[in-house]
Amino acid sequence: MTDTERQRPSLSFEIFPPNTKTSNELLLDTLDELQDLGPHFISVTCSNKQANLQTTTLKLAGYIQKNLKVPSIAHITAAYSSKQEIREALQTLDRFKTKRILALRGDIYEDKQPTGDFQHASELIQFIKKEDPTFQISGACHPEIHPEAASRVADLHHLKEKVDSGCDDLITQLFFDNDIFYRFRENCEMVGIDVPIYPGIMPIVNRNQALRLIQTTKTALPRKFVAILEKYEHDPASLRAAGLAYAIDQIVDLVTQDSAGIHLYTMNQSQTALSIYRATKTLFKEESLIV
Ligand code: FAD
Repeated sequence: MTDTERQRPSLSFEIFPPNTKTSNELLLDTLDELQDLGPHFISVTCSNKQANLQTTTLKLAGYIQKNLKVPSIAHITAAYSSKQEIREALQTLDRFKTKRILALRGDIYEDKQPTGDFQHASELIQFIKKEDPTFQISGACHPEIHPEAASRVADLHHLKEKVDSGCDDLITQLFFDNDIFYRFRENCEMVGIDVPIYPGIMPIVNRNQALRLIQTTKTALPRKFVAILEKYEHDPASLRAAGLAYAIDQIVDLVTQDSAGIHLYTMNQSQTALSIYRATKTLFKEESLIV
């Protein structure tokens, strides 16, 4: 099979709605730069407490779709939403011609009682499919098991139920060890999950981000990755360079192992996305080799 005949993986980005006017203006510049890279889609996160879904996530997803002409995905969480709020969100997205949703349960907070309309992401997916079957729905998946799951088998079983509820594809939680993803993908195949799975990759480019990650995540940190964080803890330029190289290495491996695509957690940093794009673009888009 020649390169031309071979299906190229997709490249997509995740952004989050900023909470200040200045960062909002910066995000519009970031989006202009991301648009130039011709992504397959850009997804927009939401706050699980749903404080202002309409004016943040949905507005931004609509802007990307209508103004930038890039397919967008609106994240919608279920735990603190009512059915009526979801109905209104679907109407807004329909008006914006944004027909893709990442349907999530969202995290549960000890001090806040969920609405009770949806227990799990699968119930939200069933609800959306019933309200408007024309929406394309993505689901989240957790290659290292969702922290609340009773076991790997139980988590996989629930993921299969989620996909059967109407998921068109899955996007993974971030991970730094590709072997964990490959085992997860194989397990999915074994239980009959046959939708595309997009690995979520987060390039680590600064110390605060690295520290936050180490303190909060349950994600396995490979020796090679920890060594970068330790060695360049007080050398921002080298940490950035090594963090980018690590992410690029992960991406090259994933693409050569036939991943459906790469979903990059950009943290609203176009320069990070741009550096990765420059290093890997021929893996995603065909280009003639000029020597
Ligand atoms: P679910 O699929 O409902 O799973 C949650 C837990 O319930 C799992 O342990 C699962 O095994 C279990 N479960 C599922 N179904 C059943 C059942 N029928 N019976 C018993 N147990 C069951 N959070 C945000 O707040 N905003 C975002 O924008 C956001 N974006 C994300 C994007 C990606 C790609 C990912 C991977 C996560 C994102 N999250 C976001 C985090 C996500 O909301 C949390 O991981 C949350 O804790 C679980 O959401 P879920 O959709 O995976 O839940």
